[in-house]
Amino acid sequence: MRLLVVEDDPDLNRQLVGALGDAGYVVDAAKDGEEGHFLGDTEPYDAVVLDLGLPVLDGVSVLEKWRRAGKKMPVLILTARDRWSDKVAGFDAGADDYVAKPFHMEEVLARVRALLRRSAGHATSELDCGPLSLDTKSARVTVNGSAIKLTSLEFRLLAYLMHHKGKVVSRTELVEHLYDQDFDRDSNTIEVFVGRLRKKLGVDVLHTIRGMGYCVSEPDNAG
Ligand code: CA
Repeated sequence: MRLLVVEDDPDLNRQLVGALGDAGYVVDAAKDGEEGHFLGDTEPYDAVVLDLGLPVLDGVSVLEKWRRAGKKMPVLILTARDRWSDKVAGFDAGADDYVAKPFHMEEVLARVRALLRRSAGHATSELDCGPLSLDTKSARVTVNGSAIKLTSLEFRLLAYLMHHKGKVVSRTELVEHLYDQDFDRDSNTIEVFVGRLRKKLGVDVLHTIRGMGYCVSEPDNAG
């Protein structure tokens, strides 16, 4: 899952990027509204954390421009505690949720998890596929109840496919959602990671669809 943080306060920006990165997301950061708008307009983010009080272009205008352009990614806005009118303007502009400053990082993490799973149509933090289970809250993966140890990239890969269970996800889409903008992207390495992940899981849930991409779905009973 790839996220964008738009926050002009350098300390807060660093804290948000750090905490979301530690939670297993790939995070890009912008420090003003113009840069934030550009990234959100050109890169495929799974969710955005957007401060409203931003230099160059304010957060509400950034959000309005994204929504007018048809961008549908879930957006969590950061508002000042005493400014109820900010929240109203934010929701009217297309925000999905808000956190008032000052906030506890845990609350931001929980709200981002909720946004991601709602946008993927899931009601709880636990994603299941036959014997395979992935808890987005604890970052725990189990097969038939036994914990499987994954690297952070393997976890991100599996989490993205599990959020899109039953759908074919192309290699290009995976690369775009697993690496940040500065990463030297090579879609061939995805094949290697998928192979390793499949071996670790040991169950037939991660399928290669020739010429199209990958798909997580229940094991095929016939085979
Ligand atoms: Ca600000």
